[in-house]
Amino acid sequence: MRPVDPTSELGQIWNQLIEFLAKIVSPDWGALVNLIPVFLAPLVLLFVAAVVLAWFAYGVRKPRARTRFLLGARRAEVLPDGTALFPAGYPFDAAKALVYPAGTVRGDDGAPLSVVCPLCKVERSAELVTCGNCGLVLRIDAPTPVAAPPGPPAGGAAVA
Ligand SMILES: [Zn+2]
Repeated sequence: MRPVDPTSELGQIWNQLIEFLAKIVSPDWGALVNLIPVFLAPLVLLFVAAVVLAWFAYGVRKPRARTRFLLGARRAEVLPDGTALFPAGYPFDAAKALVYPAGTVRGDDGAPLSVVCPLCKVERSAELVTCGNCGLVLRIDAPTPVAAPPGPPAGGAAVA
C-alpha cells in the first residue's frame, strides 16, 4: 500500500483529522486543571444548598413535645381586708398579687420582684441575695422546670 501523499487533498484532510484527534486524545492538561474549580463550584453549591434545605426541613417537621411547666406564678393569698399575704422567702409581684417560685428575680412581664426576708421579715428586691437588714443570705437557684403531663390538670380544665 502506498503511503498517503501529504500534498494531496486527501492527505491534508488526514493531517487535519490527526491534529483534531490529538487535541482530544492528549488534551491540554494545564487548561483542564484550571477548569476544575469551574466544574466543582456548582457541585459544592448544590451540596451546601442540600444540607441547608435538609436542616431547614428537619427544623420545620421536627416533632415537638407539647409541654407545660408546673412551676409558675400563683395567686397570693388575699386577706378579707384586701391585703395580699406573701410567704417569706418567695419572690412576689405586689402589684399583681402573684407569688413566683423561689429563685425567680423577674416576673413574667419582666418586672423586678420583691422578697420578704424569712428571718427578719424585711422586704427587699429579689435580685439582692443578702438581706440588708439582718445579713441573711438567701440564694436559691432557679429550679429546673418540671414538665406537666399532657391534658388538663387533676380536677379538670376549670382548675387551670
Ligand atoms: Zn433579713
